Amino acid sequence: MYCRKCGKKISDHAQFCDHCGAEVVIVPQKSYADKYKENKKKTKSQAHQTSQQQKKQQEKHKDAKNPYIAASLFAAIVSLVCAIFPWNFIGEGIGTSLPMRIIVVVFALLGDYHATKAKQTNHYLKNKYGFEIQVNAMKLGYYLSVIMTIMGLFALFMYGA
Ligand SMILES: [Zn+2]
Repeated sequence: MYCRKCGKKISDHAQFCDHCGAEVVIVPQKSYADKYKENKKKTKSQAHQTSQQQKKQQEKHKDAKNPYIAASLFAAIVSLVCAIFPWNFIGEGIGTSLPMRIIVVVFALLGDYHATKAKQTNHYLKNKYGFEIQVNAMKLGYYLSVIMTIMGLFALFMYGA
């Protein structure tokens, strides 16, 4: 038996160390089998923790979606395409017909609406998880929608029917 404090050898039945006077505390020696079992348990619980973290992250990804960004971009681009195409899908006349101008404004407003929702969703995600999704795409959808709304309304009312 060895002293825990000074490390010198002491007799098996001594209650105090002969060399430094420290109290002898008997620490049970663990067998290899016990250690193996303990390690196995640790590994298992670590693996469990890891899988739980993975699950949490997956849930994070599941929650962390912002479909409004794509929706606002899509609406804004449809509005833009309808505004700049040199032919009319609907209606007649040179340039952009009245129904086309209405479509431009409607899609621009849809873009605005979804851009607002995208902002709200990203704000929520930032509060919940501390990060946002596709901030640049969100801004692009927002600005494009605003520009299309202004231009669309201008074209709608300035050029008349
Ligand atoms: Zn000692």
